[in-house]
Amino acid sequence: MPAAPLYLEPRLAPRLTSLLASGDFLHPLVDGLGTPLNVVLPEQVAENVRHFRSVFRRHHLRGAVHFAHKANRSSALVRRLASTDASLDVASLEELQHALSCGFTPERIGATGPKEPEFLWLAARTGVTVNVEGAAELDALAALVRRHRLRRARVLLRLSDFAGERPGGGVRLLSRRSRFGTPVSALDTLLKVAERHRDAVEIAGVAYHLDTTSLQEKAAALEGCVRAMNECLEHGLRPTVIDMGGGFGVNYLAHEAQWETYTTQLTLAALGRRPPMTWRRHGYGLSNDAGTLRGSLELYPSYRKVAGADYLDALLAQAAPSLGRPLGEVLLEHLFDLSVEPGRALVDQCGATLARVLEVRGGDEAEEVLTVRLGMNADDCALEEHGILLDPVLVPRPGAGRGDTRDEDGRPVRVYLHGNLCLESDLITRRIVHLPRRPAPGDLLAFPNTAGYCMDFNASHAQRRPPARKAAVHDEGGVWRWSLDDLYWPLHVPEDPAAPAAHPPAASTADVHEGLHEV
Ligand SMILES: *Cc1c(COP(=O)(O)O)cnc(C)c1O
Repeated sequence: MPAAPLYLEPRLAPRLTSLLASGDFLHPLVDGLGTPLNVVLPEQVAENVRHFRSVFRRHHLRGAVHFAHKANRSSALVRRLASTDASLDVASLEELQHALSCGFTPERIGATGPKEPEFLWLAARTGVTVNVEGAAELDALAALVRRHRLRRARVLLRLSDFAGERPGGGVRLLSRRSRFGTPVSALDTLLKVAERHRDAVEIAGVAYHLDTTSLQEKAAALEGCVRAMNECLEHGLRPTVIDMGGGFGVNYLAHEAQWETYTTQLTLAALGRRPPMTWRRHGYGLSNDAGTLRGSLELYPSYRKVAGADYLDALLAQAAPSLGRPLGEVLLEHLFDLSVEPGRALVDQCGATLARVLEVRGGDEAEEVLTVRLGMNADDCALEEHGILLDPVLVPRPGAGRGDTRDEDGRPVRVYLHGNLCLESDLITRRIVHLPRRPAPGDLLAFPNTAGYCMDFNASHAQRRPPARKAAVHDEGGVWRWSLDDLYWPLHVPEDPAAPAAHPPAASTADVHEGLHEV
């Protein structure tokens, strides 16, 4: 009696469900554009913005929803976002150029991350808000503004290492250390630098970004920012915005129970108490030390009860650690604007990576793990790199007679998913994947929900293979339409009534005389 299959079924929103059920549409697309193929769904990103917006409304907060561009290179997603009321967070010179070319005007763009002089120049020149890491960057920016006689740069001070008072006295670090930003303990010094540069930079607020799932840590940081804002006010500055970064997360799986079972079995496998579940007994961080479990699972929590906009909602409802009142209320009382920078969460359900099944081997012996070779490699879909475990969806070739009759349809199989590189280690995922039935060459396997970091962050030219093409798809009255990602423009969508006016009112005379132009 074979053990029950250990499925990790993906959570699929209606658009992605409908798309993956459209084999008649997807197969010719991959035939024409090649395997692997990334598809993105621009309408979904607009819907995700609306979810975040509704949370702002529920808490009566004003502010901006920035998409952290680094999560996906797509032009279609960025252009679709330009037609909503979202803003964009760029982390490189190239992302900034891309944002401007996709229709984002500078007041809707924030620049974060390490910045080279060219990036700083274009940001300051166009009037983008700059999220500064510390005093050195503030000095560099101010010098640049003066040298080129630019308009005062709008700046957010990125803070880190938030600390709180211990109940018994003393201080304890409440958030993990970050290599980015300025520790709050050094804020006073930073504000003195800001005061010195008053002619060149305007402090619009403070910011943080914590790569953690912990609500407590984020609550501590947000409250730390409220304190930092008050400190800015005491220094005579007029900040208005707290930018709480990203990290709202995604729930990848449909069933919590499958995740619980799977991770429990991984633990047992690491201890040798059940047959291996992975290639060469890879332990995902766990190991067996003479019968004792060592390490911890180095995996993304693929099932999350609360993620995305709901996570923001929960955070704003959370009591501020020392003030005791909900953080949303605290922000409202101070009349601070809130900015968020979701990357992964804003492209939740916004894409999939499709790969052709090239070869299926094995299965003559019961219990044998099949070898499935796909027309893609591990870097084409970096699920493993990000520790995300979820099953691909089989999209059978429509109308194909199934020549392979060794396994009746409907009988589950266990497979290793191998890539197309001449490398032993090129596995799309190192785990044995359970599929509801045996795939056949010509079928597609669709990895859903890869738009956040998985589909193009690691894409390479290994073995001179071109990186996957990307197609933008949308549903037009029940018919799927597509275009190459870089040819997509949101001409077919009605402009979002909340979107900022395409032609902002002309700057006032006073603004113009403030010294806008280079001479
Ligand atoms: C990467 C990044 C984000 C987005 O993080 P997610 O986890 O994808 O939401 C937001 N802000 C900054 C500064 C970042 O570096």
